[in-house]
Amino acid sequence: MVQQRIFRAVIMGPPGSGKGTVSGRIVKRFGLSHLSSGDLLRANIKAQTELGLLMKSCIDQGQLVPDDVISRLILTEMRSIEQSSWLLDGFPRTVTQAETLDGVCSVDTVINMDVPFQTIKQRLTSRWLHLPSGRVYNIDFNPPKISGLDDVTGEPLIQRDDDTPETITRRLRSYENQTQPVLEYYRSKGMLETFSGTETNKIWPHIQAFLSKKLFPQNDKVVGKA
Ligand code: ATP
Ligand code: MG
Repeated sequence: MVQQRIFRAVIMGPPGSGKGTVSGRIVKRFGLSHLSSGDLLRANIKAQTELGLLMKSCIDQGQLVPDDVISRLILTEMRSIEQSSWLLDGFPRTVTQAETLDGVCSVDTVINMDVPFQTIKQRLTSRWLHLPSGRVYNIDFNPPKISGLDDVTGEPLIQRDDDTPETITRRLRSYENQTQPVLEYYRSKGMLETFSGTETNKIWPHIQAFLSKKLFPQNDKVVGKA
């Protein structure tokens, strides 16, 4: 049997850039395992774990949680999916986290969703979430089939406590100060692939085409020969 090579990708972008939505599509289309730092933290808050309770105020204020806390959480979860290809969403968010990740594995590609801050501010306040799955809806352009309910499970949707205008402003500021340097870090290593736009549905085909090429280069050659 031919052992398929393990593929490791990171997806980055400001809060509300559509990372969650695009991650869901990538996972479905390419069968990668999905690890989202935000989903993990929210699951801990919901389950009222010690870590969740400690981190909630940090998150609700739009601040990043400490590097060592999130790194430990992510690296622990990563162990259970290390035999498969994966997509990391929401981590690394600081250069320290990127260096920690580099210490344990080599990442194949970093997808950067470049969406203007103005677009994001409008979006986040009309965003609804299915907490158990991380599925995201937007009442303006991607509403659920039945108002307030998840399309797949029929369970209720919530609004995130950190999706308020003031907290969004703070999250964008911490993105600029702490996360944009991570983009430079990956750009200087030649790993960064940037996809710009204001609509997820227009950005997605480009990301899909890029990943198809990365994951199935042989198919590309066949098409080229024909
Ligand atoms: P979106 O869900 O729209 O991508 P976001 O990127 O702000 O928005 P999440 O990734 O869900 O949100 O993260 C929510 C919060 O969890 C962050 O604002 C931050 O407080 C905390 N958090 C998540 N990942 C990290 C990380 N890698 N380092 C530090 N804090 C994190
Ligand atoms: Mg997210």
